[in-house]
Amino acid sequence: MAGIYIHIPFCKQACTYCDFHFSTQQTLRKPLIDALCKEIDDRLSKSATAFKTLYFGGGSPSILNADELQQLFDVLNKHLDVSELKEVTLESNPDDHTSEKLELWRSLGIDRLSIGIQSFIDRDLKFMNRAHNAEEARHCVARARAAGFEALTIDLIYGIPGQSHTEWQSNVQKAIQLEVDHISAYCLTVEERTALHHQVEKGHVEEVSDEEIEKQYLFLHRKLEDCGFEHYEISNFAKAGKRAQHNRSYWKGTPYIGIGPAAHSFDGQQTRRWNIANNPLYIKALANNTPYWESETLTETERTNEILITGLRTRKGVDLNQLPESHRNSIQAQTENYQAKHPGLLVLEEGLLRMNPEAWLLTDQVLKEVVF
Ligand code: SF4
Repeated sequence: MAGIYIHIPFCKQACTYCDFHFSTQQTLRKPLIDALCKEIDDRLSKSATAFKTLYFGGGSPSILNADELQQLFDVLNKHLDVSELKEVTLESNPDDHTSEKLELWRSLGIDRLSIGIQSFIDRDLKFMNRAHNAEEARHCVARARAAGFEALTIDLIYGIPGQSHTEWQSNVQKAIQLEVDHISAYCLTVEERTALHHQVEKGHVEEVSDEEIEKQYLFLHRKLEDCGFEHYEISNFAKAGKRAQHNRSYWKGTPYIGIGPAAHSFDGQQTRRWNIANNPLYIKALANNTPYWESETLTETERTNEILITGLRTRKGVDLNQLPESHRNSIQAQTENYQAKHPGLLVLEEGLLRMNPEAWLLTDQVLKEVVF
């Protein structure tokens, strides 16, 4: 299912752990929205693909005002009928859930909100420098529902330094009580060039141990499955029929186009392309009609590795028939070697290679021995 991703590279403030492409300086908002519109216009006018999903990510798309969003939707609607798409998602932060914005999003045709709650505890939110507080985290889902949104997914973070296991259990319980049909949960990782990395390097913050992370992950997996969610990808849980449609493009290798600075695109075959991750240079290149992206053609080995890296983190696993023919036999042989050395981690059944969800945290270790 082909999708369009639009990257909005602005945030109110910088979360300490974040290494996405964003700016807290708002001065380039106007020229950047103009550049996004130009890229949408250029790329959709040249594309013959029937797009099914639209996803606004970032950064913080919910920071945009009515004029900015309207400008983006006007150009999108020139090329496709947004109301006909199967899923139109906007990433939102709880502090942006005002009644005016919720109404605006609905009126534009956004039918799914991905809400960055992360934690229901004020201490965690302050520690991560999130812009919202625990009260907004508790009430944002009800507000979105009251505004008419039915498809809601919330993000949680586990492995937060200073959070006890009991507090994590309570966060998961609170998420369940919100009765959303989709939950994403990510492990907090300490990425280089982030404020959190600096805090850890200086000894001001102690990273959570691997044992505690595994304990939190297993609690999450078991609790949500007990409550009727299917753990269908390492970070994603859905009630029946409620899996995220846009993100499946990434895991299934279907085409998608990424618009905006730092956005990636894939043609569904072997070509990847990525836009420059720099707001002023992106704006300038669009204005001057000069290239603002780089691309690469994946070799069969690179494509094989990509399919394994993404597929092994999904419930379904990897269909060996999806792999380039030249690599199927060797992957099968490497799998059998791995199974002999580490029984029980990798399963190969009826041409499908998969891992037990309880072992997904070990995927990186497994991949080191199975990929080329
Ligand atoms: S709101 Fe999202 S994109 Fe922005 S700094 Fe925080 S985590 Fe990063």
